[in-house]
Amino acid sequence: MIGFERSQALFQRAQKVVPGGIPGHQSPRLLPRNQSPCFIEKAAGCRFQDVDGRVYIDYLCAYGPMILGYRHPAVEKAVEAQREKGDCFDLPGPIMVELAEHLVGMIDSADWVIFGKNGSDVTDFACQTARAHTHRKKILMAQGAYHGIGPWCNPNPTGMTEEERANVLTFPYNHTQTLRRLVAEHGDQLAGIILSPFRHDAFHDQEMPTEDFLQALRDLCRPEGPVLILDDVRAGFRLDLRGSAAYFGLQPHLQCFSKALGNGYPISACLGREELKPAAEKVFFTGSFFMAAVPMAAALATVKELQRIDAVSHMFRMGERLKQGMLEQARSLGLKINYTGPVTLPFLTFEEDRSFEKARTFCARAYQEGVFFHPIHNWFLSAAHQEEDIDQTLAATLKAFQEVKRRFG
Ligand code: PMP
Repeated sequence: MIGFERSQALFQRAQKVVPGGIPGHQSPRLLPRNQSPCFIEKAAGCRFQDVDGRVYIDYLCAYGPMILGYRHPAVEKAVEAQREKGDCFDLPGPIMVELAEHLVGMIDSADWVIFGKNGSDVTDFACQTARAHTHRKKILMAQGAYHGIGPWCNPNPTGMTEEERANVLTFPYNHTQTLRRLVAEHGDQLAGIILSPFRHDAFHDQEMPTEDFLQALRDLCRPEGPVLILDDVRAGFRLDLRGSAAYFGLQPHLQCFSKALGNGYPISACLGREELKPAAEKVFFTGSFFMAAVPMAAALATVKELQRIDAVSHMFRMGERLKQGMLEQARSLGLKINYTGPVTLPFLTFEEDRSFEKARTFCARAYQEGVFFHPIHNWFLSAAHQEEDIDQTLAATLKAFQEVKRRFG
């Protein structure tokens, strides 16, 4: 059993000076208790080294941002070049226009783009723009979906008021009938429908949209509203470089990206169709760091490199290799698992594992073998994962599955 002494010691110190020690989704409380690293020293390619000196092949990719690999040379070169000139100015750098032009050319159904920092910035902005466009209040979203920390959608109600959520209605993902009923009932008050391209809620098997559901979205969302908002913050650039909407044959009015856009540099973007532009101009959207030039340089270099190397095809090949390998291992051991979602953002659950104890056992054993998975959140492939990494991973997952079998039968 390897130890995490330095991680634990840092976490103890952190708890004294930071609420919760490590707040939010990066908290080790979501990981196998006392059996996971809490802090990372450094990273390169598809590997990171924790503060105790252990190296892991990473399948969380910083919860998505790392898509080309940590410290990718093409991105770092662009970052250095911009840093030489400066980052945060009184006015944007020309890089804002270059990036905007590139993204509008690259993403389907997009005529303009506005930049923020985090995913939450742009999901909030998209809902406000939908309201400004339609002069209506209500927003429809899927039950249990994550769209950020805005008070209207934060999954934890602490500190939020009921009034802030009063105009948000929910329906079960893929329930076409309920969606159609709600649109019919609230049509004249409905500003928008916000959805991720597939269901990727934490603690849940992933679910792809049914054709019936996609067709309903195509039928229901018209130029006059409700506005269709695709939240591609998590999945963006891992299904299709034109956006996940294009992958599923949707033409949303607004599309939100962040995470992978800057290969780890803080940037988000909301792209929209021409008819939404007047409304977007009216919404007051700003932040001290929104126009920072370095993350924009990182984003431009990232998307150009993703295009140049056809990163999506590579990630699909690697993802498929991992999936087939793990399915075969589970089958040979008689373990019942669900391996769900696109292979570039897969998730593994065990049957009869409501408390996620089997998943935590699996992950804890994988950490011992130098592979990092998450027990309750979907995983991410990157362009840096190569066949040898997948094969090394599979050697680790075999031991992890065997451990689950040994403990739970
Ligand atoms: N939408 C989705 C689908 C997300 O996965 C996330 C982040 N997990 C967000 C929005 C919010 O992004 P951020 O954490 O950068 O604010």
